[in-house]
Amino acid sequence: MKLTVVGCSGSFPSAESACSSYLVEADGFRLLLDMGNGALGELQRHCGLYDLDAIFLSHLHADHCIDMCAYFVARYYRHDGGRCDPIPVYGPEGTEHRLTTAYADTPTASSMSEVFDFHTVKPSTFEIGPFTVHTERVAHPVEAYGIRVEHGGRVLTYSGDTGVSPALDELARDADLFLCEAAFTHGKENIPDLHLNGREAGETAARAGARRLVLTHIPPWTDPQVNVTDARAVFDGPVDLAAPRLSYEI
Ligand SMILES: [Zn+2]
Ligand SMILES: [Zn+2]
Repeated sequence: MKLTVVGCSGSFPSAESACSSYLVEADGFRLLLDMGNGALGELQRHCGLYDLDAIFLSHLHADHCIDMCAYFVARYYRHDGGRCDPIPVYGPEGTEHRLTTAYADTPTASSMSEVFDFHTVKPSTFEIGPFTVHTERVAHPVEAYGIRVEHGGRVLTYSGDTGVSPALDELARDADLFLCEAAFTHGKENIPDLHLNGREAGETAARAGARRLVLTHIPPWTDPQVNVTDARAVFDGPVDLAAPRLSYEI
């Protein structure tokens, strides 16, 4: 499978990057993980507007889902007068309501579901196209999921937003690529069950036996090189920084 970073800025967009959004492709199927601020524009560098086959939303913080409102407009009011068929959207309880009310304060009840087929995520294992995915609750102030994506014997794990979490250790077990948030700086911010710092991301990768660590969701006010150095101090494998338009064959 192929992973492409669409956006990776943490909490709010930077001058260089949209917020969280990652394109995962295999067998011609395109699964988007999260669609944060600015992601819809960037996405069009990588595929056509209507080429997505499914969307997974890790949680409902705006930096992971708010461009779904813009994508609704693009699918509902096509320039050719047609309307896109619904594609599956996997998200926490209340995803449809949240996106609908974010879009308009007087929503028509059925509009979003005409172009998105909403599925409520719980901790479970299920199929999305050619992928077998496993989801678990992670440690964040709202209902938030990490996801393990398997295809052809290869494993990609995406943390979503989380503090230190035993569930994340399991999701990342022996992962070929572990895409892990590192929003905080070791020795600076220390708020449990919110975000990881670079050291904690490295420790998680080491405990899980992941083969490669890619740090993401680093806010514009955080020095990413500090987080890379902190992760490398505790994890022996390769450590990269996510960047827009980077892609990985997994
Ligand atoms: Zn976030
Ligand atoms: Zn969050």
